[in-house]
Amino acid sequence: PQRGSPVLNVEGAVKRFGGLVAVNDVSFQIQAGEIVGLIGPNGAGKSTMFNLLTGTLPLTEGAVQFLGKPISGLSQRDIAVRGIARTFQHVKLRPQMTLLENVALGAHARGHCGLWRGGLRLDRNEEARIMAEAMTQLERVGLADQAYELAGSLPLGTQRLLEIARALAADPVLIMLDEPAAGLRLFEKQALAKLLDTLRTEGVTVLIVEHDMEFVMNLVDRLVVMSFGSKIAEGKPAEVRANPQVQAAYLGS
Ligand code: ADP
Ligand code: MG
Repeated sequence: PQRGSPVLNVEGAVKRFGGLVAVNDVSFQIQAGEIVGLIGPNGAGKSTMFNLLTGTLPLTEGAVQFLGKPISGLSQRDIAVRGIARTFQHVKLRPQMTLLENVALGAHARGHCGLWRGGLRLDRNEEARIMAEAMTQLERVGLADQAYELAGSLPLGTQRLLEIARALAADPVLIMLDEPAAGLRLFEKQALAKLLDTLRTEGVTVLIVEHDMEFVMNLVDRLVVMSFGSKIAEGKPAEVRANPQVQAAYLGS
């Protein structure tokens, strides 16, 4: 999509877990090429929002449009095929597979390989094409020289970059990152920031949940702030930082 055109439109999203309202009537939009941060104290509902957007959890109420079409109610698979890819707060990789194989699995998420999906064996050309594509993504995140190592042997910071490579391999329109800087050492955070800057110049649209304020404030174009399930503020980093309601929400946590 063209820069600035609507990518995601969340309208009155509600998620209840029994009596608990984890997401309470939240609306926001994301335009193509934007990097948007979703922040808020622990338990604010950020991960739940990610799960609603990716079809991991059904909405209790509300609607989500992606590229102008409703996606609420679709399966995780169907949403991935339309072009939303994500990483997880707790890294989900195949530890016994190589980096290259992990990224190759990501290419399938967008249905780039209908044969595998159908349970048939890939022909050699197709397999070679997918591996080459996976290698390209590993190069993009700076991990090509470790392509044949096992994912489980990597330090956390590298695993997070690998997860991003796997998400990118699906050629997503929107990539959603859940706390990518969590647990990273300073030099790993710097590598991540550099990668995200590259994605920005490439015009990739990003929604990022991040606890590290310094990290997220320096990175994003715009922030959406949640607290106890509700959206309490939205705007540019400087505006949000100066917002008394936001300050109060963080002090109380
Ligand atoms: P955040 O990611 O902002 O820290 P979460 O979205 O993980 O917050 O959680 C929001 C609230 O919803 C919390 O009170 C949490 O305990 C609750 N919650 C999250 N997932 C579930 C679930 N599957 N079942 C019941 N409650 C949940
Ligand atoms: Mg979370």
